[in-house]
Amino acid sequence: MSKLTTMASCLALTAALTACKGTPANETFDYHVDRFEDIEVLRYRVPDFESLSLDQKRLVYYLTEAALAGRDILWDQNGKYNLNTRQLLEDVYTHYDGDREDPEFKAFETYLKQVWFANGLHHHYSMDKFTPKFSQAWLEARVNALPLELRNGLDFDLVYQYIFDPAFMAKRVNQAAGEDLIVTSAMNMYDRVTQKQVEDYYAALKDTTDLTPVSYGLNTRVTVDANGNVIEQQYKIGGLYSDKIERIVENLEKASRYAENDVQKKTIDQLVEYYRTGDLRTFDEYSITWAGDTLSRVDFINGFIESYGDPLGMTGSWESIVNFKNNEASERTETLSANAQWFEDHSPVDPKYRKPEVKGVSAKVITAAILAGDAYPATPIGINLPNANWIRAQHGSKSVTIENITQAYDAASHGNGFNEEFVHDEATRKLLDDYLFITDNLHTDLHECLGHGSGRLMPGVDPDALKAHGSTLEETRADLFALYYLADPKLIELGLLDNPDAYKAEYYKYMLNGLMTQLQRIEPGKDIEEAHMRNRALIARWAMEHGAADNVLEMVKENGKTQLIINDYGKLRELFGRLLGEIQRIKSEGDYAAGEALVEQYAVKVDPELHREILERYSTLSIPPYRGFVNPVYTAEFDADGNITDVKVDYTEGYVDQMLRYSSQY
Ligand code: ZN
Repeated sequence: MSKLTTMASCLALTAALTACKGTPANETFDYHVDRFEDIEVLRYRVPDFESLSLDQKRLVYYLTEAALAGRDILWDQNGKYNLNTRQLLEDVYTHYDGDREDPEFKAFETYLKQVWFANGLHHHYSMDKFTPKFSQAWLEARVNALPLELRNGLDFDLVYQYIFDPAFMAKRVNQAAGEDLIVTSAMNMYDRVTQKQVEDYYAALKDTTDLTPVSYGLNTRVTVDANGNVIEQQYKIGGLYSDKIERIVENLEKASRYAENDVQKKTIDQLVEYYRTGDLRTFDEYSITWAGDTLSRVDFINGFIESYGDPLGMTGSWESIVNFKNNEASERTETLSANAQWFEDHSPVDPKYRKPEVKGVSAKVITAAILAGDAYPATPIGINLPNANWIRAQHGSKSVTIENITQAYDAASHGNGFNEEFVHDEATRKLLDDYLFITDNLHTDLHECLGHGSGRLMPGVDPDALKAHGSTLEETRADLFALYYLADPKLIELGLLDNPDAYKAEYYKYMLNGLMTQLQRIEPGKDIEEAHMRNRALIARWAMEHGAADNVLEMVKENGKTQLIINDYGKLRELFGRLLGEIQRIKSEGDYAAGEALVEQYAVKVDPELHREILERYSTLSIPPYRGFVNPVYTAEFDADGNITDVKVDYTEGYVDQMLRYSSQY
């Protein structure tokens, strides 16, 4: 519901500005780590880590250990043969003693890098299985040369089929209407059950009169028992992933000793309790305590959180992010939060769908210290949690912008030629140079701090009423809220922007991305599937169509290249407001049919001719469609009694080394 993933093209656009706030750019820091296929791996800095107290460093250290300990949970959730396959691929990679420049080995290495990046055999964004460019015969020969003890107990035929048979487990999360989404998806959150069985199971289980419902299915795998009855297996100590969860808990318990205050200690202890029992009520209690902890400098996420990895949007993928507050940059989001009620009261939606009282929207800018599970190597740039609607309504939520990550994207994008290729005219390019970095950050802040937390459901409306379209429509809502308010004079009044035209930079970039440039992430012939991409297409194409009569914006062909021209930014803002009103109505009323119609009409299909053109123009630039990160390495120094005396941070570890180290250590 709440993860704002980065848009490569969006951030690629922020070319000319260096880090304007918070984190001064370090000229000697090399952000580029590795490049393969459609991926670039970067590294990020952790500014001000040295300024943390010793206890805060200890806390961060144990939380990062708890974060890394869950890595294999996600791999297994993403596909039941992922871990076996990774083991085999890594064994072949590390034991290979032939020519490392051999084309077949190079193809194998690239494949392994892709698999690492995706935490499994399916692309992290498109969800399609990777196509190996080395032969099965080559791999079999390498496998047969492995020491015997490495080959015991593996079902090779299954692993080979998983790697090489394109039809076998072809898609991790299938969203195609009309198909059994469980049976046709390769993710491992369900076992031997059909979509209908799962839906019937939850329909019988859900108490629709419960005003504080648990997040059904969040930490379970649904399967059938020996008698054919549908059951849930819990992720917990003594349940699924017990050994990994034990190690997470062990480190959380150590972290708890260095909590900054009682609320944070309670947060960690409740999370431990939840990992022991699997009780979703305890998870809700933990989430409420976590949302209420606004005083601690160090903070973290650790658990089964976002449900994009489940075609039914129920089971959470395991993830963890450890972070600490960037005090200086947080003034921006605190200003927005302090005015949350004003934004709610003035939003362009029917007053009955507004929250009469916006509670506890807390927001801050953070510095990520570690990315793990589903947040690694590809990572969100903003987060808003908890996800449960009733907790958000009654207890508020916490919203963050991860600025050392956006700063790294920005720094790594300098001079890549994107603006010259895709931005129509010099005046607009200048606008982007001057204002895109700040308006992009503000867009993220508004989306996370205010957008997701705004509005309310009508009594009796099932929060899951929008079903498979829920994620897309929720992101649409949050984006529209942000777009609408970016152009509001209120932002000038609050001192967040200094130019009434600044918002146009983000508007241009957003429309360009939604209409054209995000298509570079789609393979020819494929539909748009990922929720955030659908949301951006939905907004941009809807606005294009509804603004046509007034010539609000146009796409014209110049020298064979499609160009976007925005003629009337004020009217474009009105269109965003109008669509926000409708999307909020759909959410508040649980109007599935209207939501589905919007998604199907605007968010899914791709114009093949435009698509071809965009791919061609991109191919002349050297811009990776997707980017992610390696983590810094934290090394603790201990005294004779086993107490940490200092924690050192190092940025030199490479991508392959980090992946192999994680596999052997965690
Ligand atoms: Zn979002």
